[in-house]
Amino acid sequence: MDRALLKLGPADLVREEILALRSYHVPVATGMVKLDAMENPFRLPEPLREEIGRCVSTLAINRYPDPTAPELKARLRETFAIPEECEVLLGNGSDEIIQMATHALARPGAAMVAPEPSFVMYKMDAIVARMRYVGVPLNPDFTLDIGRFVGAIEEHRPALVFVAYPNNPTGNLFPEDAVASIIEAAPGLVVIDEAYHAFAGETFMTRLREFPNLLVMRTLSKLGLAGVRLGYAAGQPQWIRELDKLRPPYNVSVLAQSVAERLLARIEVLQGQADRVKGERAALFGRLRDLKGVEVFPSDANFILVRVADADATDARLKERRILVKNLHGSHPLLANCLRFTVGTPGENDLLLAALAESL
Ligand code: PMP
Repeated sequence: MDRALLKLGPADLVREEILALRSYHVPVATGMVKLDAMENPFRLPEPLREEIGRCVSTLAINRYPDPTAPELKARLRETFAIPEECEVLLGNGSDEIIQMATHALARPGAAMVAPEPSFVMYKMDAIVARMRYVGVPLNPDFTLDIGRFVGAIEEHRPALVFVAYPNNPTGNLFPEDAVASIIEAAPGLVVIDEAYHAFAGETFMTRLREFPNLLVMRTLSKLGLAGVRLGYAAGQPQWIRELDKLRPPYNVSVLAQSVAERLLARIEVLQGQADRVKGERAALFGRLRDLKGVEVFPSDANFILVRVADADATDARLKERRILVKNLHGSHPLLANCLRFTVGTPGENDLLLAALAESL
């Protein structure tokens, strides 16, 4: 018998729910105006880049990183006013924290509840962890149907709830009272995902004391450090201790720890860039609203969601004009003909608007 015939392939061995998944698609962006991934469009000032270069040159990259990352954690606490009695969990991006929380709570039969549409990785990780995922639709204008959401919590008694605050891909911030009532109603852990905090201002960080079942998760990705990969979550020590068991021991590299710590010491530079993005967001919003054939949704994040007559056609025309945006058509019924534009530099936004006017 030919031994090769006895070999099993991925279709035989990989779990069915993984075979059915599609991998997270990252399009090629070379030569494009890149407005698809909510990155900070500004580079660091030259002197700061040089400082980072000097700092990196001294690092012992032959050694594993210190998994407890004491300097970085202290800097995070100080910079972001993390309450003293809370513990901090570090992730290789907040993507990894979503994974850790999901895997830790995926007891057989356990449910995850999240609004829909929202960040796609919540559902993806639930599937991978074999958690029962319950998506609760937003209203057609993307506001939260709080009655329906709390109803779903009461019905499904989820171990884990994710609420992105502001929400991606819709950009809006749900009312604080409504989110607080979700945390109160939830029997299990609630992760408030504040990835876009720098552009919104509102936070649950100051309310961690009130809610023992709350985790506030953030990332440095939207603040200008997407390439560094650093996310963090703050919460009660008894929760963080358990989730930390799932953290790969050396998940935040020597380079990431050091560069993040240095740059957080200069938070005014990063926040200054975020403030410029907020100014650009207001300008872009106004100009988009003036375009015929574009419905614009309000945003508290660094991107703007719009609806056009034919998103696939508009997206194709934008691509021909070397503008890369996120086409959400087909990803959720509520997102029919929706495109998401990351706020860019003034020049990039001009290019987007000019190309869009020719692409509707
Ligand atoms: N949460 C939300 C709501 C996001 O939009 C994103 C990235 N798009 C993430 C988490 C993950 O970000 P990162 O892994 O870069 O920290």
